[in-house]
Amino acid sequence: MKPIQLDGSSGGGQMLRTALSLAMITGQPFRMTNIRGKRPRPGLMRQHLTCVKAACEISGGTADGADIGSTELVFRAGKVRGGSYHFAIGTAGSTTLLLQTLLPALWQADAASTLKLEGGTHNPMAPPFEFIERIFLPVLARMGGKATVACESVGFAPAGGGCLTANIQPSPQLQPLELVQRTELEASRIRVLTRHIPLPVAGRMLDAALEAFPCKDAVVESCEQGPGAGIVCLVEADFGGIREMTSGFGEHGVSAEKVAHRATKAMNDYIGCRAPVGRHLADQLLLPLALAGSGTIATMAPDTHVPTNISVIEKFLPVKFSVRKEDRGVHIITCEET
Ligand code: ATP
Repeated sequence: MKPIQLDGSSGGGQMLRTALSLAMITGQPFRMTNIRGKRPRPGLMRQHLTCVKAACEISGGTADGADIGSTELVFRAGKVRGGSYHFAIGTAGSTTLLLQTLLPALWQADAASTLKLEGGTHNPMAPPFEFIERIFLPVLARMGGKATVACESVGFAPAGGGCLTANIQPSPQLQPLELVQRTELEASRIRVLTRHIPLPVAGRMLDAALEAFPCKDAVVESCEQGPGAGIVCLVEADFGGIREMTSGFGEHGVSAEKVAHRATKAMNDYIGCRAPVGRHLADQLLLPLALAGSGTIATMAPDTHVPTNISVIEKFLPVKFSVRKEDRGVHIITCEET
């Protein structure tokens, strides 16, 4: 079969991950050029390479160009097999993004799977573990996608040392999703998760978050065992039918208050928009919507992940997406079969 041609220059690792998932599901090979072409360090980094190697292993597939720094890859999948798999990224690369690559394919397998993924569980620019557990998977469960996850050990970037495990049940046909209304706020919580950071810093971060986003359920949780230092502020809002979680990661030279502000501002922007689907969840739901064949979500002004992810999905599946702007910053994303 002739490979589907994809140009990765307009996006990041997500274009590659989505292509890997879809190649495993549809059996169609692809050739991607200019992988992460406009990123500061283009090509495959350790996290992306592990996604490629893991895709080869779970599907008995082959990859040409699977090397660090490679900007071109040809991937051909075989048959996806359920089972017990262990993948170690070898850096603090994101285990949650690796999980998101394998999950849709393992839903198509004829047996259940368990995954043990080692690397980062809490990385800036990737879904924190709690986002997968409390935001992403519950929506997928509504669509009929069955999976549970556990964080065996926390791994902050850049040290890594984290471990995520997952149990995945075959879920061959996802159901369409309609997620356009948001009801009233039912509960909220703030969690500051830290390792090897002085407790007063974490306390300041929590106080600053509470000032901007008052809520009763607020904790600092310290996980001292494991390598390196890290801190993240996780802000969660539960609207009954849908939850959102925003996050701010500690950075050298950035105050605890500023990190808290990033997380609470993102949450207050989400609440102000009145759309049920947060910005990050929106681009992560595009593939499940397409696998279901149809669906509609209302979200905030989408970032570039939405058009780049759509461009990959539409090459593999007979679906068409549309994005329509409504009042107060709400955007309606619709997926239909062609
Ligand atoms: P690069 O952009 O360097 O190629 P990458 O492979 O890590 O890197 P992207 O293609 O940018 O990544 O995809 C990152 C994914 O992580 C997107 O789905 C995005 O929505 C998600 N994401 C980023 N930050 C968060 C966050 N704070 N909460 C939830 N999801 C997040």
